[in-house]
Amino acid sequence: MAREYDVVILGGGTGGYVAAIRAAQLGLKTALVEKGKLGGTCLHKGCIPSKALLKSAEVFDTAKNQAADFGVVTKEVTLDFSRVQARKEGIVKQLHTGVTALMKKGKIDVFEGLGRMLGPSIFSPMPGTISVEMNNGDENEMLILKNLIIATGSRPRTLPGLAIDEEQIMSSDGALSMETLPKSILIVGGGVIGIEWASMLNDFGVEVTVLEYADRIIPTEDEDISKEMKKLLTKKGITFATSAKVLPETLVKTDDSVAISAEMNGETIAFTAEKMLVSVGRQANVEGIGMDNTEIEIDNGYIKARPTFQTKEHHIYAIGDVIGGLQLAHVASHEGIAAVEHIMGMKNEPMDYTKISRCIYSNPEASSVGITEKQAKEQGFDVKVGKFPFMAIGKALVNGNSDGFVKIVADQKTNDILGVHMIGAHVTDLISEAGLAMVLDATPWEVASTIHPHPSLSEVMGEAALAVDGNAIHM
Ligand code: FAD
Repeated sequence: MAREYDVVILGGGTGGYVAAIRAAQLGLKTALVEKGKLGGTCLHKGCIPSKALLKSAEVFDTAKNQAADFGVVTKEVTLDFSRVQARKEGIVKQLHTGVTALMKKGKIDVFEGLGRMLGPSIFSPMPGTISVEMNNGDENEMLILKNLIIATGSRPRTLPGLAIDEEQIMSSDGALSMETLPKSILIVGGGVIGIEWASMLNDFGVEVTVLEYADRIIPTEDEDISKEMKKLLTKKGITFATSAKVLPETLVKTDDSVAISAEMNGETIAFTAEKMLVSVGRQANVEGIGMDNTEIEIDNGYIKARPTFQTKEHHIYAIGDVIGGLQLAHVASHEGIAAVEHIMGMKNEPMDYTKISRCIYSNPEASSVGITEKQAKEQGFDVKVGKFPFMAIGKALVNGNSDGFVKIVADQKTNDILGVHMIGAHVTDLISEAGLAMVLDATPWEVASTIHPHPSLSEVMGEAALAVDGNAIHM
């Protein structure tokens, strides 16, 4: 028997389950269809498990290489990687239980199975139907709906000819469940995911080489951040090959090694390691969801959505990684909320993607909001920059980690903050102040007038804001 809903959400990742909660809060009869586990990529293959591993790696590195500086003398520091993995699993399980409880609390009907769009039903005036092939083998469920939100997310991409076997050649999915650490690894792709893995594995003691096609790592970030990240990670022992075009046809696998060549400045250079991690981006999950039964358009592999998140069929919305753009968990969840509020006729401003914070959880961390110095110049702004190092921040010295800096890019004419770029310990938390400043259109002077507590890492933001007009106190 078909069931009827005000809104059905296809995909229970961060975008989908948050949309479901908001829909339920607003009184909509809501169903969520998830073929895997509630929480999606972020909870099971992305943000949370990778950060749990990064934290263990940081603790290991600190205990091994820094504890003595604090006067803490340890005899021998060893790694129990099975406990590292168990801790990660425990955190994921706890959060998964939390999300499941939130679905119950919101009286959201969760269907565990593969959903597929079928188009309108002949038995109902409602505009859409989803069939769900239930994971438990029960008969297919038919869900008739007024509105549908597609939130099917994305999966790792690879290079043609570089087949992922999740043993020797891994994606970030497979790497998360490694039972033992390799002695050495080649990481193809020096973007956000590649750099997080490089940093983590290096902290665990793995010999890491990163091969990046662009002429710098994390190429979407401000050039100063890329440069500093490369400098600091090189100092920690990571090898980087930039402007390196990996040649998949040169791949040679043996039982215990992977070798591949890359073209660099006209030369062909060979690289070998025990394992390889391919982190060259993501691709949208648009296959097998019944796209043929709709008029939804695809652009460059992603579902085309308007600023309201409606697709060409106006009762069908799409949000999160499946529409491309900034593929981040907090972006997916806010898009989910915005889509539901549009369904309810609430008149929101379109989401402003220029004011969303982006974070890299390597050691050191990096974070940013707004545009880079280069982009600001290209866009014709009369740019002024304030930069302040953690080296001159007392709390950073107390913490034993004074690498990095904060850089504020502002407009000389209007005093608007155009972008804030950070590298150093805890900057993924510090960036929120910069995000708030940009949302409130605060000037650097207003940020500096916010009296930051002493000693705290947040003082770096006040000093960088003063530095924009050459008034930093401690520099
Ligand atoms: P997803 O989380 O991918 O969820 C989609 C869900 O839809 C999945 O659960 C899938 O099983 C389900 N689904 C797909 N097709 C169907 C179907 N036909 N029927 C039923 N269900 C279906 N972002 C951050 O903001 N911070 C981070 O630190 C961060 N770290 C990351 C680290 C890694 C290694 C990776 C890979 C990603 C990371 N991300 C991070 C990105 C973040 O995980 C994604 O942006 C986010 O998960 C997107 O949410 P989503 O809801 O759009 O899709």
